[in-house]
Amino acid sequence: MTLNSDVSYSNGTYISSLLTVIVSIGLFLFTNFVLASSCDLLDIDNMPSNWELPATAIDTDQVPQVSVDPEAPEDSPLPVYRLSDNTYMLFGNISLLDEKNRGFNANAGFIVTEQGVIVIDSLGTPTLGQRLINSIHCITDKPIKYLIVTHNHPDHAYGAAAFLNIEGITRIAHRGTIDYNHSETLETSVSYRREKLPKDMQSFKPLEADIYIETEPFGRKRIHLGQEVIDIYNTGKHHSYGDLLVHQVNRKILWISDLAFNQRTTYMGDGNSAQILKAQEWLLQTFPHASLMVPGHGSAQTPPFSMVTKTHDYVTRMRHAMREAVDEDISMIDAVQGIEFDDWKAVPFYELNQRANANFVYREMEKAYFDNFQPNN
Ligand SMILES: [Zn+2]
Repeated sequence: MTLNSDVSYSNGTYISSLLTVIVSIGLFLFTNFVLASSCDLLDIDNMPSNWELPATAIDTDQVPQVSVDPEAPEDSPLPVYRLSDNTYMLFGNISLLDEKNRGFNANAGFIVTEQGVIVIDSLGTPTLGQRLINSIHCITDKPIKYLIVTHNHPDHAYGAAAFLNIEGITRIAHRGTIDYNHSETLETSVSYRREKLPKDMQSFKPLEADIYIETEPFGRKRIHLGQEVIDIYNTGKHHSYGDLLVHQVNRKILWISDLAFNQRTTYMGDGNSAQILKAQEWLLQTFPHASLMVPGHGSAQTPPFSMVTKTHDYVTRMRHAMREAVDEDISMIDAVQGIEFDDWKAVPFYELNQRANANFVYREMEKAYFDNFQPNN
């Protein structure tokens, strides 16, 4: 009996072990199959037919048109461009948030080192953040060690929620992110996104970083990972509650975030237009040998970085025009209605942003006017 029962027990164990092995092999095959098939989306021949992608993400006139399928399997990647041997970019659509792009309207990127991965920006929703993580897993099995969020705007920062539970990750953001998290702007923008994309925003949480950059403007923090040396600069509050710029020192690649826009008109709504100009001038002076600049919107660019000079020119003209309007006592409404830059009219987002930018800069100039006003008493 004992023996039988032992035998029967051991038979049972044998059968259950065999079952475990079969199930494990099945799971292994299944997992690998799913992984392989979803990563296959990154193969040009297997891309969804509603992804229209430029052949390159560097110095191109074309813009991507990626439809984000809300029903896509959880582990689907987004299209990824290789910028250099270990540096990758996700090239966002140039459009407003809508049902088609589901918030994929800014760029993000990542750098693969022997010791792990550094991610720059997180895309516009937790779902997109997760798909960014999936894209990274398709390229490398190295762990994600850093997430650097260049600024608090939703299209760059709201995907950060997907990085919350990654073990061993260090999340880096500008100190201004804390102010943003306590602002009404956050509430308004979150409810707007929740209304438009309820499912994609389900797991949203405001970004809490492990390290906040709070150096003086143009001060830097350096991190090392593998052979990569990464400098993170505080470029001041030029575009948001606080903006960062990332320099891959060895490769001379600069992730300039929204310090200059490519293939679209700039947006000024937070930040400070004088600081934009200061930071752009600092950028060109400090990195005369940069090999590549990757903006937050539009394709990456090689020297001489016309997107920086063009955006600089746009902001300079806007400041002159609005300063003149304030000096000549022209009302805000007249000044804003009257401002046209003919050479920008064909550039995407001109219609949408021109008045808002003029309005923003007019108010800056008005404030400067009153701040400088010395009463004669
Ligand atoms: Zn942006």
